[in-house]
Amino acid sequence: MAKAEFYSVKLLAKQMIARAVLALHFEKPQGFVFQAGQFVQFKVPTADGAVVIRNFSLAAPPAAPDLEFCAKMIPGGKASDWFTSLPVGEGAEISAARGVFVCSGKEERPKVLVATGVGLAPIISILEDAVPRAPATPFRLLWGVRSAADLFWPGRLPALAERHQNFSFLITLSQPAGNWGGERGRVTERLPGLITPGADYYLCGSLAMVKEARSMILDQGIALPRIKIEIF
Ligand SMILES: Cc1cc2nc3c(=O)[nH]c(=O)nc-3n(C[C@H](O)[C@H](O)[C@H](O)COP(=O)(O)OP(=O)(O)OC[C@H]3O[C@@H](n4cnc5c(N)ncnc54)[C@H](O)[C@@H]3O)c2cc1C
Repeated sequence: MAKAEFYSVKLLAKQMIARAVLALHFEKPQGFVFQAGQFVQFKVPTADGAVVIRNFSLAAPPAAPDLEFCAKMIPGGKASDWFTSLPVGEGAEISAARGVFVCSGKEERPKVLVATGVGLAPIISILEDAVPRAPATPFRLLWGVRSAADLFWPGRLPALAERHQNFSFLITLSQPAGNWGGERGRVTERLPGLITPGADYYLCGSLAMVKEARSMILDQGIALPRIKIEIF
């Protein structure tokens, strides 16, 4: 039987998890399959009665019981407004999973993953899926946000690093308050120390960050097919 193009999904829970980031959990519909790192398209009804399409990455691994998303809240944004007003228990329409920003996790080449802001969504799905399955593969994450108020999922990265020696992460803030005790600066300032000749690279975030990080990696002689990108 042909795969249904759109699925009806029920909103189970939603919560603001950072200054402008809303996490949403939807019931996983029967027959819905995806690979870690993929995204779906939401049909977003607008105030004038139209429907627009917006893409959101699946932010939990395929083995998780529900479908999780994290959405940056943009004032006046169509998906942002609709997600904000959607009551728990209501339905939404999503497409089948799409995209090639995926990682098999089987190859032993080290993986370097770079995210800014909600660009962490597909990357955490990849990490929680692949890190436990590929214990001989080193995974190194570099995640950047503007300030501490933009950080979310405080426990997820430390829990993964505690359980799996093949995973480590570095968080950097581009505009930290004076009392921030961690790394400072944009991800592209921290990236040079992480570029390794034999690694695969996964970059997700704004166009500016992805372009700059990719050209820094290419400048180190890494071949283009070793770099996967997702631009939000
Ligand atoms: C493959 C893919 C996966 C994606 N996954 C995610 C995800 O997991 N989480 C997520 O939050 N987003 C994700 N996005 C981006 C998302 O699809 C929307 O484009 C974005 O969130 C805009 O949503 P909106 O409808 O609320 O705003 P819109 O109605 O599209 O835009 C309102 C206004 O805000 C501006 N705007 C649009 N995006 C931004 C931005 N990022 N920052 C500042 N201003 C902006 C627009 O130019 C417009 O003026 C993904 C995009 C792609 C292509």
